[in-house]
Formats: sequence, structure tokens, C-alpha cells
Amino acid sequence: MMRTPRNGFASSKIERVSFKIVLTVFILLLSLLFNNSLSGKERNREMGIVLVAVGEIDRNVMDWLMNHLNKVFNKQVLIGKGMPDPDYAYHKKRNQYLSTVILNAIVEQKEYSPYEKILGIVDHDLYVPELNFVFGEASRKAAVISMTRFKQIFYHLPEDQSLFRQRVLTEAVHELGHTFGLGHCENPRCVMFFSNSLEDTDRKGSEFCHKCKNLLRPSH
Ligand SMILES: [Zn+2]
Ligand SMILES: [Zn+2]
Repeated sequence: MMRTPRNGFASSKIERVSFKIVLTVFILLLSLLFNNSLSGKERNREMGIVLVAVGEIDRNVMDWLMNHLNKVFNKQVLIGKGMPDPDYAYHKKRNQYLSTVILNAIVEQKEYSPYEKILGIVDHDLYVPELNFVFGEASRKAAVISMTRFKQIFYHLPEDQSLFRQRVLTEAVHELGHTFGLGHCENPRCVMFFSNSLEDTDRKGSEFCHKCKNLLRPSH
């Protein structure tokens, strides 16, 4: 009769001790996991932005873009290993390439995942089903842009290299802006303004307005 409560007391004490151990181990594991994911994000930030030629792209344009994006975002920008021509995204009837499929293919490449952001560059006309064409498309991690409609030759006009490069930069900054969490801006002189046509792209240029610049800053 006397033993039962004593035993009960002893076992509940053991339970409490073992519960404490389990809790400590759990907290330890949780903090390890948390620290790891933080350092992973930090690592990505240090790696910066990787530019990926999807198909054949002029290396001079890639280099030029790399230098200018480095100044705009104040981050390391590198040129990664190129990807093959995106035949898998081709729509024969439209004679265009589905941007979303290319975007997914870029994100699936494991070698780009250590980078904070990935920018794919394509020299094919892009589309999404609801629109006639798109200059580019972005997700959280990656973006893809097309150079095709930035060439004067597309409109049967004489080629203009500096205008072409400025347009490519504007579109690259715009789509990368989306990857950093920026939405469209109402300011028609801000790079985050939605380009319905090339006139919009040429007018707005590649710079962020003050509001967007401030929104961008915390992620730096
Ligand atoms: Zn946009
Ligand atoms: Zn803005």
C-alpha cells in the first residue's frame, strides 16, 4: 500500500526528466535547422545574380549586361554556363516560344540554385497563352527575357546597338525587380512600370523611382 505512491512519484520524476531531455534535444535540432536555413540564404545572397544564355546569345551583350546589372543592383553578377536552344518551348502555329516553360527549365537546373537570382536571356520571341507576346517573365527565383523585339530590325528599321542594349538592360532590370519582390509601378518613368509596347520601354528607361528603390533596399 505504501509502495504505490512512492513508485508513482519516482516514475513521474523520471518522466519529467526525460521530457526535459526530449525538449532540449528538440530545441537544439530546431535551432540547428534555423541556423542552417539562414546561412543558406546568406550564401545565396553572396553568390548574387547569374546570367544564363538560353541558346546562342552574343557574348558582348552578356558582358555589357553583367557590368550594368552589377551597378544597378550592387550585387555580384556572373555569367553561368549556357543552356541549349529551348526547342521544347516552341509553338509552331504561333512561331513563338512559351516563356513559362523556359523559366521552369532554368529553375530546374541545379547548378544555378546556389545563386540568389537567375536571369535567362533568349533570342526568340516569347509568349504566354493570354498575350500576343511578352518581353519577359519572372518568378521569385528566376526571370527570362527575350531580346528579339528590342532589335530595330524586328520592325524593319536600321539597327541601333546602343538603343538595343538599353532596351535589354531595361527589361532585365524590370524582370529582376520582380524577382526581388517588386510589383508594377504607376510612375511611367520608373523601370517597374508595365511595358505594353516598346514606346513604354524606351520612355521609362532602366532606373527605379525613389519609391521602388526604397522597397528594393531591405532585400540588399
Ligand atoms: Zn512586369
Ligand atoms: Zn517605381
